[in-house]
Amino acid sequence: MPPPTPDTPLQFLKGVGEGRAALLAENGLATVRDLLGFFPFRYEDRRHPTPIAELGHYLDQPVLLRGRVVSAAAKVSPVKRMKIFEALFDDGTGTVMLVWFNQGFLADQIKRNDRLAIYGAPRLSSQKGRLQIESPDWEKIDEESEHEGSIVPIYSKIGNIPPKAMRRIMVQALEALPSLSDPMPADVREHLGLAGLAESIAAIHRPAELTPEFLRYRSPAHLRVVMQEFFTFQLTLRVRRATEDVKKKSRAITIDDALRAEVKRILPFKLTGAQKRVLREIADDLRASRPMYRLLQGDVGSGKTIVALIAAMIMIRNGHQVALLAPTEILVEQHFQRIGQLLDGAVVVARASGSMTAGERRTLIAGLREGYIQLVVGTHAILEEKIAFKSLGLAIVDEQHRFGVEQRQRLFAKGDTPDILVMTATPIPRSLALAMYGDLELSVIDELPPGRQQIRTAVRSPAEAERVYRFIDDELSSGAQAYIVYPIIEESEKLNLKPLTLGFESTVKRFPGRRIAMLHGRMTPGDKEATMARFKNGEIDILVATTVIEVGIDVPNASIMLIIDAERFGLSQLHQLRGRVGRGERKSYCILMHGTKVAPDSADRLRTFEKTRDGFEVAEKDLELRGPGEFLGTRQSGVPRFRFGNIVRDHDLMEKARDAAIELVEREGAQRGDELARRLLGTAVEATRD
Ligand code: ADP
Ligand code: MG
Repeated sequence: MPPPTPDTPLQFLKGVGEGRAALLAENGLATVRDLLGFFPFRYEDRRHPTPIAELGHYLDQPVLLRGRVVSAAAKVSPVKRMKIFEALFDDGTGTVMLVWFNQGFLADQIKRNDRLAIYGAPRLSSQKGRLQIESPDWEKIDEESEHEGSIVPIYSKIGNIPPKAMRRIMVQALEALPSLSDPMPADVREHLGLAGLAESIAAIHRPAELTPEFLRYRSPAHLRVVMQEFFTFQLTLRVRRATEDVKKKSRAITIDDALRAEVKRILPFKLTGAQKRVLREIADDLRASRPMYRLLQGDVGSGKTIVALIAAMIMIRNGHQVALLAPTEILVEQHFQRIGQLLDGAVVVARASGSMTAGERRTLIAGLREGYIQLVVGTHAILEEKIAFKSLGLAIVDEQHRFGVEQRQRLFAKGDTPDILVMTATPIPRSLALAMYGDLELSVIDELPPGRQQIRTAVRSPAEAERVYRFIDDELSSGAQAYIVYPIIEESEKLNLKPLTLGFESTVKRFPGRRIAMLHGRMTPGDKEATMARFKNGEIDILVATTVIEVGIDVPNASIMLIIDAERFGLSQLHQLRGRVGRGERKSYCILMHGTKVAPDSADRLRTFEKTRDGFEVAEKDLELRGPGEFLGTRQSGVPRFRFGNIVRDHDLMEKARDAAIELVEREGAQRGDELARRLLGTAVEATRD
């Protein structure tokens, strides 16, 4: 039979009958090519046998033994009434008992005097107090002992296919490697410094050495397969963007001295270096002929809003309108107030929300259509079909994680390819941002305005509650305000407010004489707004709330954030909550109270958070701990799943892949980029993806 090729269906391999072929196909493995991309999930180094005399040092650790069967017999276990097969094994330094359960057929396969390689973990048998190895992997040395004395790849189990059979099938698949063509053109490969595909695949299935870089997925072979996957992904995004955005903007934006002077007049402070840099990036985009699609990231309090506002001024003074979208009505209200203070009548600003009266709505619609309203701040109500603009030039979206592709398209439809600036206070690790939004440009404000308070973070147990409450009471006496946050999932359909109302009641009892209010997502927008306004004006001392206060709320006098059952929040969420304090002159505190039955690793997580101030660092940790899907809150969050690459582990490669893809499209054009992307997708070993 000729050797298999990458396209050979698996049923033509030895050891794959109809049943196994079907089983493999169910798991996405139909051809030899698919199988080549089915990588071992770990390896066992079976090159160095351990003398049986030393087994006592290796309790519960898998070891390799080489020796001879002294005696072998099938029995019925007296305790569990289970069939067992026992073999006494000798390597010249000592003997050990090998035991298999319910594998009576072994009596036909393992005989006295057979030479075997054994792989398994020694343990003390409970009945006899002697060392034994239960259900070890075994192989006869004299026969075709292909794995004995080598590094053995371990594949995740598919159905009931035994590991040994899987390895035999794989050995045949590897014979197809010489006919596997490399879809990466030589120049691109060279440019990226990548190893050949066939040699890389061979090395991953049958490594010669388990070097530290190999085990960390950083060997040339690993770099090759991960880079190819990431590069293909990024190239697809770039090509799509290059061809999609041929639609040029018709507006011409200029920034003259009068505009510069006006912006200077408006600014109540000097911009930080990071703000200036980011503003330049945005201004360049606004003047370019291609529409802007930029993600502006910055830790809470880094001053994104003012940057966005200057961008808005540029657009408005060039005769176009601007929309600012925020996720909640509270935030809309806050932006509206702040913009009002800063611009002080220089621009006509309106609000849009779901709770507008019919009259307000009519005024808004007319004002936007006629171009009288220059800046509209609103919730998703702005995206309603009835809302049309005279000339929408820029859309600013606050809090990107609630803004999807669909919304983006609806915005596009409202203007002449408006520029889009997405702002997020949830610092998404760059790797994830690039993976999710490879077609966005990234700007990062990585510097806080001067004079920021450091927030003291402390983890406390319920046993320390009394002390915590006394401390808070003292702070309140000196004029501070506090948030107490309960872990209530705002998104859930049947919102159970009981823990919050109980918390409210106990807070009222604990702090007699203080002014206390509740805030949660099920209140009417009007009630929420009124409560926030009272808190902001200092008419409320303690706000007992859910995470509705998580995003962007700015009350400078609030200096205490107490989070109840803190282990139930994600790290990024905790960081957002912490960012609500430390916004004014007062020394600020974030106290994480964990529950009575907190798991040790949850407590560790909180302690890590206690020590980490930087939002990006928190986000990286959160991502590491929870994975991208959880991190972003939902499965359908649009995070692509990769077969070989791991966004956390390989984030550096994602950036490299992106740069390379951008460069390729610039150098060779979208056409060649498209051809290459198709070829990479069509012939890659990782073509099957779930
Ligand atoms: P973000 O939206 O990034 O969380 P904001 O834009 O709300 O941050 O800014 C936080 C606070 O810092 C605001 O009160 C803002 O007026 C102030 N601020 C922003 N930039 C500066 C700066 N360069 N110097 C001083 N204060 C600033
Ligand atoms: Mg903000």
